Amino acid sequence: MISDNPLLVLGGGLMGLSVAHQLARQGRKVEILSRQRSEAAGFVAAGMLAPHAEGLNGDLLKLGQLSLKRIPSWVKTIEDDSGISCGLRLCGIVVPFLSEKERDSYPTADFGQCLNRAELEEEVLGIGSCWKAGLLFSQDGQIDNRRRLMRALEKACVGLGVHFQEGVEVLELVNEQERFHGVEIRDATGERKIILSNEAVLCSGAWSGQVLNRLPIFPVKGQMFSLQAPRDALKRVIFGPGTYMVPREDGLIVIGATSERSVGFTEGLTPLGQKELLDGITTLLPDARNWPPMERWWGFRPCTPDEAPLLGPSPLKGLWLATGHHRNGVLLAAITAELIATCLSGQQISNQLLQLLQTFRWDRFEVET
Ligand SMILES: Cc1cc2nc3c(=O)[nH]c(=O)nc-3n(C[C@H](O)[C@H](O)[C@H](O)COP(=O)(O)OP(=O)(O)OC[C@H]3O[C@@H](n4cnc5c(N)ncnc54)[C@H](O)[C@@H]3O)c2cc1C
Repeated sequence: MISDNPLLVLGGGLMGLSVAHQLARQGRKVEILSRQRSEAAGFVAAGMLAPHAEGLNGDLLKLGQLSLKRIPSWVKTIEDDSGISCGLRLCGIVVPFLSEKERDSYPTADFGQCLNRAELEEEVLGIGSCWKAGLLFSQDGQIDNRRRLMRALEKACVGLGVHFQEGVEVLELVNEQERFHGVEIRDATGERKIILSNEAVLCSGAWSGQVLNRLPIFPVKGQMFSLQAPRDALKRVIFGPGTYMVPREDGLIVIGATSERSVGFTEGLTPLGQKELLDGITTLLPDARNWPPMERWWGFRPCTPDEAPLLGPSPLKGLWLATGHHRNGVLLAAITAELIATCLSGQQISNQLLQLLQTFRWDRFEVET
């Protein structure tokens, strides 16, 4: 039975907004508790929609492919509800390789179009001379999460009556006998309060393990920067080893990203991280070194031991999980929102979605004793 209490969404980043939007569209009363809007990885990501270019495999590849299929209609609902265009571009992604042998052994090679050096040069004008082969994944793409999607989701949620509490930190979950009853929070004035509710979705990104410490989630820091290129200098995303370049429609090129696993939540840019990215673009596209730099930023990916998300039920009845999306949260937002909203609606769930919930259960890492 669906209760009259607002459903709580713990975290107002990309997953929190996506889930809240979907639930509000189904007529649910939703309240988002958000500690800090600006720290969300949703505002950090490069926005690649890249299950193939990332070389995913197994169930995570399947999940990514299902989400990619849903992205155009998912984006359309957000655009219709917000009136903001999200900057979706199914522009294709090129992955360059040092040899044809390396290309042919890429996990997703079968889904891409093989390119030799001449074809690679045609796809990416000015590509570095060390790259001898490539794969073109024309089905992959990008969305302008940082400047558009997040804002559009927020506006769509507000329009559908979602209530936001910003500056609110969830300190503890209130539960009894493995049943979720609410949360203890510290509000923006520093006051501690209890908010009661029978249902919540945990969407606290890299910090999810602080809210529910049985979850094996840790931060993987990523540093980024952007350049302003001549318009149409790059028509597709280039996804090199360690560095990628994502061209937005207006010529802004987003460069990412470091992948720092041992620094915890240490904030800020580092000279070493920025140099790594600069070296990366010099190898990928030497001309890009002359393009003017625009902005630099960083954030934390929510990672799990197998780098795949935690979706569906949690150890507490009434608390659901939509977290741990690591480096593919933008790609996976559409399928995540659908899965969680289906679970919460009480409607019959298809075998395909049921199987996904089984695969991405939170307790798959727990060793049986
Ligand atoms: C450098 C970088 C590049 C990336 N590039 C891509 C990409 O190209 N493609 C892609 O698909 N994905 C990419 N990602 C991954 C993607 O950004 C994340 O997987 C996704 O944003 C995770 O969404 P989330 O809502 O779980 O977390 P977030 O967006 O981080 O949101 C979590 C929110 O929870 C709030 N919160 C935390 N703890 C509490 C608490 N106790 N109480 C209240 N609120 C709390 C935080 O304030 C935050 O706003 C990238 C990530 C990074 C860092």
